[in-house]
Amino acid sequence: MSVNVGDLDAIAVDARQRIGAASDEAALEQVRVELLGKKGALTGALRGLGSLPADQRAAAGARANALKGEIETMLASRARELQAARLQTLGDQEWIDMTFVPSPVRRGHLHPLTLILREVKAIFSRLGYEVALGPQVEDEFHNFEALNIPQEHPARDTMDSFYVDADHLLLRTHTSPVQIRYMLSHEPPIRIIAPGAVYRRDATDPSHASQFYQVEGLVVDRDIRLSDLKGTIEYFARSLFGPDRRIRIVGDHFPFTEPSIAAAVSCGICGGAGCRSCKGGWLEILGAGMVHPQVLRNGGVDPDHYSGFAFGAGLDRLAMLKYNVTDLRLFLENDVRFLKQF
Ligand SMILES: [Zn+2]
Repeated sequence: MSVNVGDLDAIAVDARQRIGAASDEAALEQVRVELLGKKGALTGALRGLGSLPADQRAAAGARANALKGEIETMLASRARELQAARLQTLGDQEWIDMTFVPSPVRRGHLHPLTLILREVKAIFSRLGYEVALGPQVEDEFHNFEALNIPQEHPARDTMDSFYVDADHLLLRTHTSPVQIRYMLSHEPPIRIIAPGAVYRRDATDPSHASQFYQVEGLVVDRDIRLSDLKGTIEYFARSLFGPDRRIRIVGDHFPFTEPSIAAAVSCGICGGAGCRSCKGGWLEILGAGMVHPQVLRNGGVDPDHYSGFAFGAGLDRLAMLKYNVTDLRLFLENDVRFLKQF
């Protein structure tokens, strides 16, 4: 194959056009191979120089080498353009704005009843209590009879029930049946709290609802006395409502405890002087007493060897007193404007 200066000029024109037309770095590399590769156009021309007459060979060789330099310069220049264009496109399509501030993730709020339950659990866990749970659908034995509330007992009137079927199954009216279930399945010493939902056919008003929450407590061991119960109530009330609160304990009556008491804390709003929120300066927080010997027996515990105390508090009521909520129904409505205050 012979080569002349005209061929080199044609290669130069072709090279300039194809390098300029390469649309990306891969296409440009293809052009480079076709021009300067082993089988490239210019490589072939350089190889053909040897067949030229001696007088033309030097000039053609110089021109070919100069053309090779020009092509390499053009390739390098076009490569820079294509790389810059690629990075520009990448930047436009995949940019990350490191100064961008996302809108804050809005986290939910714990329900005030959840908060109060957690606090009650924490207080009693410090005293060594365990949490026990029982079914919300109960039978009459555990809900009433084992707790000294036989049929026709006047206490059943104050706990009007939702019956589930004719087989004497009902929605439990209090958490006290957990006492019976726990005593029947565990040996003393027993030290539990039993929180959960309870149900009564009450007309709904600011302090009543057909579903509300209680927390039950039960301690059974040798030589448990009323003074142990009083100390426990004082520790609980001051832990929950603050060390400045005074505690008042008065006699009460429940079928399942003997003697029975009711505990109140001094009002946090008026300090005990009496105001619209309290009854003469006191806020009742729970009912309690020494477990009736027959209830111990019903739970399989011998009252000649063991004694115990029990208490029951409304979690809703504790939350109302702690957070100054005046209407129980707010706990059930799940209005975010109410819940987000806690
Ligand atoms: Zn008050």
